[in-house]
Amino acid sequence: MSESIPHWLTKQADLAPGKMAIEHEDGLAISFRELKESSQHFAKKLAQLGITTGSRVGVLSANHSDMVIAVHALSYLGAVAVMLNTRLTDNELNYQIHDADVAFVLVQEHGPQLDASVYTFSEIKKLEEKDVFLQTELNLDDVFTIIYTSGTTGFPKGVMHTYGNHWWSAVSSMLNFGLDKDDKWLAVLPIFHVGGLSIFLRSVIYGIPAYLLEKFDANKVNEAILTKDITIASAVPVMLKKLTDALGSQTYPDKFRSVLLGGGPASRSLLEKARTHKIPVFQSFGMTETSSQIVTLSPDHALDKPGSSGKPLFPAQLKIDPSENGIGEILVKGPMVTKGYFNNKSATERTFVDGWLATGDLGYTDDDGFLYVVDRRKDLIISGGENIYPSEIETVLSRLNVIREAAVVGVKSDEWGQVPVAFVVKNGETTAEEIMEFMKNHLAKYKLPKEIHFIDKLPRNASNKIVRAKLLDLLAE
Ligand code: ATP
Ligand code: MG
Repeated sequence: MSESIPHWLTKQADLAPGKMAIEHEDGLAISFRELKESSQHFAKKLAQLGITTGSRVGVLSANHSDMVIAVHALSYLGAVAVMLNTRLTDNELNYQIHDADVAFVLVQEHGPQLDASVYTFSEIKKLEEKDVFLQTELNLDDVFTIIYTSGTTGFPKGVMHTYGNHWWSAVSSMLNFGLDKDDKWLAVLPIFHVGGLSIFLRSVIYGIPAYLLEKFDANKVNEAILTKDITIASAVPVMLKKLTDALGSQTYPDKFRSVLLGGGPASRSLLEKARTHKIPVFQSFGMTETSSQIVTLSPDHALDKPGSSGKPLFPAQLKIDPSENGIGEILVKGPMVTKGYFNNKSATERTFVDGWLATGDLGYTDDDGFLYVVDRRKDLIISGGENIYPSEIETVLSRLNVIREAAVVGVKSDEWGQVPVAFVVKNGETTAEEIMEFMKNHLAKYKLPKEIHFIDKLPRNASNKIVRAKLLDLLAE
């Protein structure tokens, strides 16, 4: 028999009714009791539309407490929240709506042309309530959310998260960070990504407030951290870079205990800069499939293990499917890992090997067991039998001040199988010759890009990730 726990929001509203659950920048705050009551009322209104156990309901919104209430409301009905990225085009949204078989989408405001019945949060609030059963327990095996992967390596896949996945993600994170009764977690990452959503589930499970910001603005985030008693913030590397740039000579308060950094690699210079501003950084590795971080590096090791993502969280395991020189595919296992992709058995079968999730990322562990993520398996370039990791070349390129950003892809070659080609966005005056000269001092000959193309900007997806495959299309044009 599968395990159930009391509904987590009902439980927290009982344990700490008056404690704040969500704080808004405009001063508005919602207690756990209010959050529970609003969510339950919202659930009964949704029931009026016929939304019930197992219904998949799209949620398309910028960060707002109404969005959080809608998600909790769906859990009271046993419905599944399909979190939609606001930066997607209507076509991309409709792809996910069809794929996840979504009949209703809840939005902040009307606009996108969606192949579903669309209601704004305020339209729902005006509906009559239907007297339906609201879940008092959460079955840890039931699916609570579906979140699509970013689509960096192909079509986005709908990752199913059970209540158990989210529960274990929150508990594992706490076993690593510890919990202080005065903790307050800053939420500026989009809630439609698992990294943003998970903050609001930790808030409920830990009984701590989430400080909600609608969108990222470095000055606003810094001001909140400097003046609102925030102790933890989740961020991606570009955000941390902007935060440190905007800080001037200021440092974060002593009570601020960590930035949880995820989503992509962080450079050593960024980590050093964070340290000078007294920003303790927990680097992490994770993916939609792992319900946020699964491997994390504590700030104590930030500088003696530069570039590492750390060790697996307490209930999680990691292994490297070995290939060359210790580098291989990163496999992970743990109770926060998804059971699979919605409506995509073949992708699920391809991704799981004996209960381990093959991440599609290449990496290695050092003698002390610390993980280093190298690159995506799909982006690996094999040239004349040698493995070339695009990220290694990109890191060298990024050391040049005249280069703002760079991406390297493998292009077919009759002679070598594949050869690396670089795409560079300039930050100042430079030439391909100058760049090649620099690279020759830092890279073995076979790793040197055969061509350098200057472009205005790198192609990115709705999650702001560079899509290397699109560079190949550019080349074909
Ligand atoms: P898709 O699976 O559709 O191609 P995606 O993998 O970009 O998209 P996400 O789940 O948003 O979708 O991103 C997870 C990926 O982000 C990881 O598989 C990894 O490639 C990258 N990533 C996350 N953390 C790190 C890190 N610390 N260092 C390097 N890469 C990271
Ligand atoms: Mg992925």
